[in-house]
Amino acid sequence: MNDCLFCKIIAGQIPSKKIYEDEHTYAFEDIDPKAPTHVLIVPKKHITGLKEATREEAEIVGLCHLTAAKIGRERGIEDGYRTVLNVGPKSGQSVFHLHVHLLGGRDLRWPPG
Ligand code: AMP
Ligand code: ZN
Repeated sequence: MNDCLFCKIIAGQIPSKKIYEDEHTYAFEDIDPKAPTHVLIVPKKHITGLKEATREEAEIVGLCHLTAAKIGRERGIEDGYRTVLNVGPKSGQSVFHLHVHLLGGRDLRWPPG
């Protein structure tokens, strides 16, 4: 998508601290981290958000979570991390390209605010 921040990051048009990339997913450091580990995992295909995802995109959405789990393993934070999808403006979603937040490396409160 032309005017999408995360599409531009994936294409290398905007710099990012890349952590991992494979055929379908791209992971990079959040620019404003809310935990010692705060990584964003995005599908390379533009999907606006979870509520816009289709059945055909189920595998890609799942692969984003598996990439999060891989990074959680590699970071040694498996004693407690959280994957979060903000969905819609009232949740705080500010970038409309689906992204999984991976947060960890500190105690996490429940429920999230
Ligand atoms: P959300 O509020 O769920 O849509 O999450 C968007 C996230 O993208 C926020 O946590 C921002 O800090 C992060 N973000 C915005 N711009 C950038 C950027 N250029 N590089 C990395 N992360 C970004
Ligand atoms: Zn996009």
